[in-house]
Amino acid sequence: MKFEIVTIFPDFFRGPLDYGIVRRAREAGFIEILIHDLRAFTTDRHKTVDDRPFGGGEGMVLKPEPLFACVESLGLSSREERVAGTTKETVVLLSPQGRMFTQSVAEEMAQLERIVLICGRYEGVDERVAEGLADQEISIGDYVLSGGELGAAVMMDTITRLVPGALGNEASARQESFSAVQKIGVDGPDSTCGSGGLLDYPHYTRPAEFRGMAVPEVLVGGNHEQIRKWRRGKALEKTLHNRPDLLERQPLSKEDRKLLAEIGKKDIGRE
Ligand code: SAM
Repeated sequence: MKFEIVTIFPDFFRGPLDYGIVRRAREAGFIEILIHDLRAFTTDRHKTVDDRPFGGGEGMVLKPEPLFACVESLGLSSREERVAGTTKETVVLLSPQGRMFTQSVAEEMAQLERIVLICGRYEGVDERVAEGLADQEISIGDYVLSGGELGAAVMMDTITRLVPGALGNEASARQESFSAVQKIGVDGPDSTCGSGGLLDYPHYTRPAEFRGMAVPEVLVGGNHEQIRKWRRGKALEKTLHNRPDLLERQPLSKEDRKLLAEIGKKDIGRE
């Protein structure tokens, strides 16, 4: 997987891409990240990348010329081919007006070979970039960031975890069993990283007692069936309380419904 970032702040990415899984995936050659400094594609003495908006209004807007020049210099397949999905490349404009980046969008994008991420700044990007250069606009959430760089880092991190081999042996095995678990719907979710899945169940480690807070007894008892059921119940409880919308999408078993009914009774008891 090759990520290419177009930005006016190339140094921004030094930190986020130099740690943990992304760093290891880069070093092992599972992913490659190229950063393109937009100012290198300007033609004037001042390296101008922005200008005032037509029609008036606040702030500055990123100009189209350097963005087109930069992306067109990359030797990508044509926009028609990319949009038709006949190539494994895409050009993304990071934008709060884009379609939402979710785990399932990440899974879709992890199938590609090359992803170009255009980072906007200021009041945004000249609309002709969305109309005639980018294949899609993507938002990482319903809030406004100062620039697309954090969004690009979020997307790269999430997609990298889904690139085969990038997580390493132990973790990818976990991911496999997690996927199977989601399909057969028997066990609790292994992690929140599943499209359409429930929120993760709580995790504990040593010490068994910390500042008067004890690890739930069931987890130290060693009964796998009881642990499975407890985890499923906790995942359902967290999802019901924090993200009830996810429950509408997740197929629920008879056992899930029973557990949810018990959680409902407990909630009423607390009111
Ligand atoms: N005027 C724009 C609006 O109200 O929608 C906001 C522009 S924002 C300050 C500047 C740049 O940050 C955008 O062009 C985009 O690249 C990036 N950005 C901001 N929020 C984002 C989000 N939620 N997802 C993806 N990119 C975002």
